[in-house]
Amino acid sequence: MALPTVDSDFLLSFLSALLNTPSPTGLAEPAITFTEQALMAFPELTLNRNRKGALVARWLGESSDAPRALTAHADTLGAMVKQIKADGRLMMTKIGSYAWNTVEGEGCKVLTSHGQPLRGSILFEMPSHHVHGTKVNETRREDANMEVRLDALTISQEETDALGVRVGDFIAFDPRVEITSGFVRSRHLDDKAGVACLVAAVKALHDAGLKPAQTTFFHISNYEEVGHGAAAGIPADVTELLSVDMAAVGEGQASDEFHATLCVKDSGGPYHHGLSEKLRQLADEHSLPYKVDIYPYYHSDGEAFWRAGGDVAVALIGPGVDASHNYERTHLDALLATTRWVCAYLLS
Ligand SMILES: [Zn+2]
Repeated sequence: MALPTVDSDFLLSFLSALLNTPSPTGLAEPAITFTEQALMAFPELTLNRNRKGALVARWLGESSDAPRALTAHADTLGAMVKQIKADGRLMMTKIGSYAWNTVEGEGCKVLTSHGQPLRGSILFEMPSHHVHGTKVNETRREDANMEVRLDALTISQEETDALGVRVGDFIAFDPRVEITSGFVRSRHLDDKAGVACLVAAVKALHDAGLKPAQTTFFHISNYEEVGHGAAAGIPADVTELLSVDMAAVGEGQASDEFHATLCVKDSGGPYHHGLSEKLRQLADEHSLPYKVDIYPYYHSDGEAFWRAGGDVAVALIGPGVDASHNYERTHLDALLATTRWVCAYLLS
C-alpha cells in the first residue's frame, strides 16, 4: 500500500507557529491549545484533556482489538524567576536539563503573573568585555551568576515588583525560528517537530480518506522535559506506545538532520525489540530514509509511561535534531521521513 501524500507546506507552517507559541514545562497550555485547535479540523478525532493538562485525541480505527498510542511533547525547556535581585534583575531556576551557556545572550519573555509579559535578555552577570575583562570568558556559568536583564525601567527590587514580576513566574526563551533551503533552525524543535509530524500524519490520512488500522490515541504531552509527561494520559488498554521525539545528532551518532531515526536504546535502556523491528520493516517496505541509533544522555516519554507501570510495547522514532537543547536545527527531509513513518505505522 502506498503512503498518503504529506502536505509539507502545512507541516512547516504549523511547526513554525507552534515554535512561536511559548510553552515552558509547567506553562505549556498555549501550545497544547494551539495543537488542539489544529486537530479540530479533523472531525474523525475525539479530543480530550487529562487532568494534568495533556491533550489526548482518539481516532477510531478499522479495528479496536489492539489499540495504540503515539506521544509527542509540546512543553519545552525554560526557566522560572527564582529571586528578584536588589538591582531589579532576575535570578532564575532552570526548567529541564540544559547548560546556561546555550541560552546566554538569548532574548526572553517573562510571563508575569501580576502584569504584562516583559521582554528581556538572558545574561551572565559580568557580561561586558570592557568592564569585566577576562572574567567574561573564564567564569563558569551557574544559577547564581546568570540573570535576566528586563527591557523595562527598573534598577531596584521594588520597581521590578511594581512591574508585576513575582517569584515563580515563567521565562520563555526566544525560539528564533528561521526556515532556509529546507533547514528549520529554532529552539525547541525538541519536541515541537515531533508534534508537527503527528499532526501532519493525521492530516495526510484524513486528506486521503484513510483511517488507522487500529483505534489510535495521540497524546500531546505537557511535562516531558521534567521526566513524567506520559506517565498519565495513555489509556490502559493500549498495547503499543510509539514515542515521537527528536533524534540526537552529533559526534559518534548515526542520526543526522536528513533522516528519521529509530532509537533502540537510551538512558532508560533498550526499547521493545518486537515493536522496533516492526518499525524497521515498515521503513524498509516504504523505502523511508532512516537510521538506527543509541542516545547516550536521553530520556523519553515512552520510558516515563513504562516507569509509571504502563504494560505496553514502547518504541521511539523522530527527526534528527542538531545541537539539541541548544539552538537546534533539523531539515524538512527528516520531518517528512518521520511523518511518513508515522503514516505507515498508523496504516499497518
Ligand atoms: Zn524531547
